[in-house]
Amino acid sequence: MDNLSTKDFEKVFVSTFAGDHSGNLQPRQTPGVLYSKTNPTPVAKPALLAWSEDLAAELGISEPNEQDVQILSGNMRTPSMYPYANCYAGHQFGNWAGQLGDGRAITLGEWPVSEKGSIELQLKGAGPTPYSRRGDGRAVLRSSIREYLMSEAMHYLGIPTTRALALVATGDQVLRDMFYDGRTAFEPGAIVMRTAPSFLRFGSFEMLAARQETAQLQQLTDWTIDQFYPHITAENKTISWFKEVLDRTAALIVEWLRVGFVHGVMNTDNMSVLGLTIDYGPYSFLDDYDPNFTPNTTDLPGRRYAFGRQHTVAYWNLGCLASAIAPLFENTDELSAALEDYKTIYLEKYYRMMGNKLGLDAIREGDHLLIDDLEETLDRIKPDMTIFFQLLITLPADADAEVILQHFQPSFYQEPEQESQDKLISTLSSYLSRIRRNEISAEASKTLMRANNPRFILRNYLLHQAIQEMEKGENTLFLKLQEAMKTPYSADHDEFFKLRPEWAITQPGSSTLSCSS
Ligand code: AMP
Ligand code: MG
Repeated sequence: MDNLSTKDFEKVFVSTFAGDHSGNLQPRQTPGVLYSKTNPTPVAKPALLAWSEDLAAELGISEPNEQDVQILSGNMRTPSMYPYANCYAGHQFGNWAGQLGDGRAITLGEWPVSEKGSIELQLKGAGPTPYSRRGDGRAVLRSSIREYLMSEAMHYLGIPTTRALALVATGDQVLRDMFYDGRTAFEPGAIVMRTAPSFLRFGSFEMLAARQETAQLQQLTDWTIDQFYPHITAENKTISWFKEVLDRTAALIVEWLRVGFVHGVMNTDNMSVLGLTIDYGPYSFLDDYDPNFTPNTTDLPGRRYAFGRQHTVAYWNLGCLASAIAPLFENTDELSAALEDYKTIYLEKYYRMMGNKLGLDAIREGDHLLIDDLEETLDRIKPDMTIFFQLLITLPADADAEVILQHFQPSFYQEPEQESQDKLISTLSSYLSRIRRNEISAEASKTLMRANNPRFILRNYLLHQAIQEMEKGENTLFLKLQEAMKTPYSADHDEFFKLRPEWAITQPGSSTLSCSS
């Protein structure tokens, strides 16, 4: 175990690629470079609010002392650090947005973790960078709590994600227009230290393509493969790599669908080339099952990033990545073909995942129809997704119509009308007869279901309540949630196993959220 303030950091990324070393924080375009040197801006009164013990143990980082807290708040840096902001571009809501870059994220350095490589330690909310555009480079407490808890919760759910090591209150106030309606207010500021092997995004590659810096595009691609995909040894590494990014992205979306996660801002600058969930903003879990639900108020008009559209947006985003790396190919036929395989790859993973959720021994003939039918039924009745699937685990094998209706009652937000009741009964009767054809034991089937259906999810209203408490200096609920999220598949935290309360539907921050953070 080492302290943040004493161990030497590595700086492979900054010593490999062209950077802007001026230290100038003036917002500007930075052609020719992949990053800009950016020192964090000091804050008034740092206070450690949360520390991820498990992650710290994994990385070999000791419990923070006073000096370490200064590092976590951007007030101190050690000689081996070379803090920088990444330069990347992206498509936002389907439109080319040009250069974006880390407007409020600053990587301090790479923390060596055994031979397996290193982990980037990055501060989010540590002050302006050359990519802050009109922003202040800061983050408010509410959005920092959301990123801190949710990225860790995703990890414990078994879903690829960036992680969060620490949450620090800055003691400074940050001005925000939370509802985008001119009601600006000061809010407490905070900083999250987040970690990942790399924060490179689809947009990192798009930027080099847009600037026609082909040599650097080749270099970044080769380096990414070398560092993070070392198992790729094929002759044409680039195409194998793209196929694997595509595969990981499809797998990630399927994992989101498994637990009912909606990212909310799937812009190409928020898509990790490592297939991680990245950039936690106005995300949400589904309460009631609604494929059309988007938690992002900016997304309401088009619902581009709604729950049920995430797999098609991923495909669209992969298309942007394919276009970005196209200049590296003499002939792009293979690249186009790889992209066109997405649908098959995604659907195969999707049905397999649903099969696991349903406790099926394998995907057999007729199972696609059963799964499609279940989806329609859920969309129609809109029960609580998490509660519904938990109840499915305990549905008696011989349940008749009456028992079925009674059994799922606790998952209903609204009493289904007659036709929907009939549909539920017919879907679940087919399901039960399919379960009888399983070639695994009933117990094995239930074990599969328990492993694939979370019982505890970090619902937005719970986060909202925890945030309200934290803003008053009270961390009881925060700590409870932090504990509960570590064992999301167990029944250890059933005080949270209930329907979303009525008030949460209309309460801002509890159902929908703006990007103001
Ligand atoms: P996001 O939608 O959160 O991924 O952010 C989109 C872009 O806006 C990224 O380039 C962010 O770094 C930048 N950004 C968001 N909030 C701020 C802020 N408060 N200050 C500076 N840049 C920001
Ligand atoms: Mg982002």
